[in-house]
Amino acid sequence: MERTVIDIPSAESTADDFEDRYGRRPDGVWSAPGRVNLIGEHTDYNDGLVFPFAIERRTWAAVGHREDRLLTVHSGAMPEPAQASLDALSPDGFDGWSAYVFGVVWAMEQRGVSLEGRTGFDLMLASDVPLGAGLSSSAAIECAVAIALNDEWELGLTRRELIYICQLAENGAVGAPTGNMDQTASLMGEPGHGVLIDVRAETADPVPLHFADEELELLVIDTRVHHEHATGGYGARRKSCEDGAAAMGVDSLRDLGEADLPRALETLDDETYRRVKHVITENARVARTAEVVQQDGPRAIGDLLVQSHASMRDDFEISCPELDLAVETALTQGAVGARMTGGGFGGAAIALVDAGRAEEVGAAVEAAFAESGFTAPIVFVVNPAAGAHRDL
Ligand code: ADP
Ligand code: MG
Repeated sequence: MERTVIDIPSAESTADDFEDRYGRRPDGVWSAPGRVNLIGEHTDYNDGLVFPFAIERRTWAAVGHREDRLLTVHSGAMPEPAQASLDALSPDGFDGWSAYVFGVVWAMEQRGVSLEGRTGFDLMLASDVPLGAGLSSSAAIECAVAIALNDEWELGLTRRELIYICQLAENGAVGAPTGNMDQTASLMGEPGHGVLIDVRAETADPVPLHFADEELELLVIDTRVHHEHATGGYGARRKSCEDGAAAMGVDSLRDLGEADLPRALETLDDETYRRVKHVITENARVARTAEVVQQDGPRAIGDLLVQSHASMRDDFEISCPELDLAVETALTQGAVGARMTGGGFGGAAIALVDAGRAEEVGAAVEAAFAESGFTAPIVFVVNPAAGAHRDL
């Protein structure tokens, strides 16, 4: 089914790329995964519940120390390298994609890591997480860099602290007002498990998903419709949630439950009400999904996935025709459940399908896209995989 990735990188190939570029072996290679969100969309920045898992697709970071204070980075995904200095680290000076890398160093300093007396590094990045497809290549790059520097500079930071550093990099250096679901999944993922995140309680618990035991596979359908978090509707949705919480007299939408919906209907304008309703009901669906998957197994979560999609399509209004078609086609093809995943306005949909049927369902989605005149989607299977770690 994989039709587009030609050279799949690895820790070894990233170390070799480093040597080609810098003329020496790296001190080590670290990697961090992308993620798929099983359920819980736009709940993270509302202090709510999310249930993503880390996937096998990863970003590798090969790092070697330098004697001066410079930071240089090459990425296999980008034509030009980038450079910064430990003496002049400021988000204003970061250009394009390098903000994801240097932003992590800046965020470390913001959160109390002293850069005084430290020497710089050379960095080589390689990745097989598709960029901007809703699988969080941004968290993969941030977390790979963060975990690498934590070891390279012997900082001894906890994974929880690394989550906050990577989130600050994305919010403060890149300028995308996201929550920390992606970074949490990337740093805390475990093979075969989802990560049930309670943002308010600051907990991230592994929950076995049993996809393989129940002969299920999770299909990702990348619509190739690209979102732009920093400038797009994401910020507008976030603002609606803040406005809704303020009008309802609570600090965050997490303080509201389904019992508050009648009062919300009376208090809020129609659009804000539907935004708030999505968040309230989505939190409830996440909690239910984590319960049901443990009690009754993953075949029992299908309806919750479908309800989540309807809520995003009709109430939160972050779907698009390509995502809706992907979900509808997968369900027609007998998927146990399907929904768009990620921030919305494009990106990917997921479908939970019988093992062995992924190819067929994927082909049906491709045919439906062709018939509608949409760009051909990229369809592939993902498995819940390990979080960020050192490879070499
Ligand atoms: P997503 O996280 O869904 O993939 P984002 O827009 O949040 O989408 O992040 C994508 C951006 O992250 C890219 O446009 C690029 O700037 C940066 N990025 C991600 N991975 C890499 C990489 N391997 N090399 C260079 N930049 C990367
Ligand atoms: Mg992202």
